[in-house]
Amino acid sequence: MPFSTLGLSEPLLKALADLKYSEPTAIQKKAIPVILSGKNLVAAAQTGTGKTASFVLPMLEKLNTERKLRGKRIRALVLTPTRELAVQVEQSIRDYGQYLNLSSMAMYGGTDIEPQRQKLIWGVDIVVATPGRLLDMAHQRALHFDELEVLVLDEADRMLDMGFIEDINKIIERLPLERQNLLFSATISDDVRALSKRTFSNATEISI
Ligand code: AMP
Repeated sequence: MPFSTLGLSEPLLKALADLKYSEPTAIQKKAIPVILSGKNLVAAAQTGTGKTASFVLPMLEKLNTERKLRGKRIRALVLTPTRELAVQVEQSIRDYGQYLNLSSMAMYGGTDIEPQRQKLIWGVDIVVATPGRLLDMAHQRALHFDELEVLVLDEADRMLDMGFIEDINKIIERLPLERQNLLFSATISDDVRALSKRTFSNATEISI
């Protein structure tokens, strides 16, 4: 089964061909059509299964509409537990999106906030961030969520283990109610399920 049967368009298929990905992985086959249809998703998938591409590819496909970059107004937010994962996911966005005209940035603590703030002023479509730094930026009004279309909680179980629940709740309070929500977690524990139930309704659940 080639990627072209999943509903992805030419610029993404070309990037995948460049990367020599011949077939979607199991999680990609299940998640991509659900996300493209606009539904909320809760997915149980471990690292190494191709889970990053399973949300990045359809997210890029959906954002690749008319581009309306407006300073500080981001269109998609991916929350990750660590700086390393934020950098890695943002690199995937660049790799898969190399033939698209979308911009992205990774945002994490422990570094100077000023260059990140400057970049937001010029306009960024997709931010991949750790919760603490993202909240700092939001408090400083360095970015706005009123045009946010997609929220991704990546490695939700690890974010909860690391004590990010309050930051996540505060971030979610600031988001528009009408948005697509995607949650990925190695395991769907009771705490993860409670987070998803509190955050959004009517999710399709998949596991591999
Ligand atoms: P992840 O589970 O997102 O950490 O991805 C694990 C690794 O699989 C990454 O190095 C990806 O570049 C690679 N990968 C993702 N999807 C595919 C695919 N369909 N074919 C080959 N490699 C892939």
